[in-house]
Amino acid sequence: MKKKISLLLSVIVLLSSCFIPASADVITSNHNDGISRMFNDRPDFCLYCGELHTGTSGAFVRFFHDVAYFFCGIVGKYPENGRMWFSYDTVDAGADEPFCFIHAGDTHVSLIDERDYGDARLVDTAEKRFDYCPYDLRCLDDLSFKANEIGAFIVHTGDLIDFVSQKNLDIAKEFTANNDVFACAGNHEYHVYIWDDGDDVARRESVEQKVQESFTNDIRFSVRIEHGVKFIAVDNSFHTVEQWQVDRFREEIADGMPVILALHVPVYAPDIFEFQMNKYDYPHPAWLMAVPEEIMAEYNYEPQWIEEQKANEATNEFYNLIINSPNIKAIVTGHDHAHFVSQVTPTLKQYMVATDEGQIFAVR
Ligand SMILES: [Zn+2]
Ligand SMILES: [Zn+2]
Repeated sequence: MKKKISLLLSVIVLLSSCFIPASADVITSNHNDGISRMFNDRPDFCLYCGELHTGTSGAFVRFFHDVAYFFCGIVGKYPENGRMWFSYDTVDAGADEPFCFIHAGDTHVSLIDERDYGDARLVDTAEKRFDYCPYDLRCLDDLSFKANEIGAFIVHTGDLIDFVSQKNLDIAKEFTANNDVFACAGNHEYHVYIWDDGDDVARRESVEQKVQESFTNDIRFSVRIEHGVKFIAVDNSFHTVEQWQVDRFREEIADGMPVILALHVPVYAPDIFEFQMNKYDYPHPAWLMAVPEEIMAEYNYEPQWIEEQKANEATNEFYNLIINSPNIKAIVTGHDHAHFVSQVTPTLKQYMVATDEGQIFAVR
């Protein structure tokens, strides 16, 4: 009888612990916490060890690993063997010879040191943001390790840093100097105090030069050719592009070479729009580029955010070029911190990468 009671008590304690909000960060963060990762939309990859467990026995292993991961989230400590998990896909681009690249994004490095301690607002930002995304450096380590292991270069689709601090810029500089990284800007590359920062061009311009110094390619517009495939990185981090970017893009795609396009903000497609709008149960925009204006009218969200995310003429032109150019073979994006593959046209896939995820592409 005693045994039965203690067993029952253990079950009650175990079950009730699942509903105790041990820390606000664990519950609300959509970045690196155990709970949101447990219910992530990429169920095949074990969140605890990063391995793929398939079949009935795999599901069994994964269940126990998910429970372990859940408790890791509560105590704030995760297994030491890496923060990232990797997914695999293939792009049939018509490469001269097959090669691999790793796509990652939204690392959100959120550190600060004595050089910025004089700025109280920045210190406050750093304290809050470090709780929000504390595993950034481990993700960078994992990326380096995996890139070396498989001999691939890294396409980073932005938000490598969370806000502009000396320390964050140093880390980005070290990472891009020691690894083969091709990057485009994310909105956070130009954020300073985060919460008050909208898509503000003047602010971007005030930090743009020093941020750029931490990268090895131009993060507003760059081209790189790998085995007959052209990678084009375009900064659309404020949900729009500028006319000079569209003009350069038009020139770059005119030669008909196969193109893989790297953007921070995903482009509109009905499937990803639906995914984004169903993601949270509070009013929010879709955080996509070139959403048709009549659909945006249903957002029911802060008017200035809707205004910021409206496509301008250059952005619509860019979008039309993308959907009408069959030589664009894939789009890789980030920004929304979840894994989703959308079908932009019947022949063009867009891969949105989750925070903590590396997508390994074999390009043929
Ligand atoms: Zn991000
Ligand atoms: Zn972003």
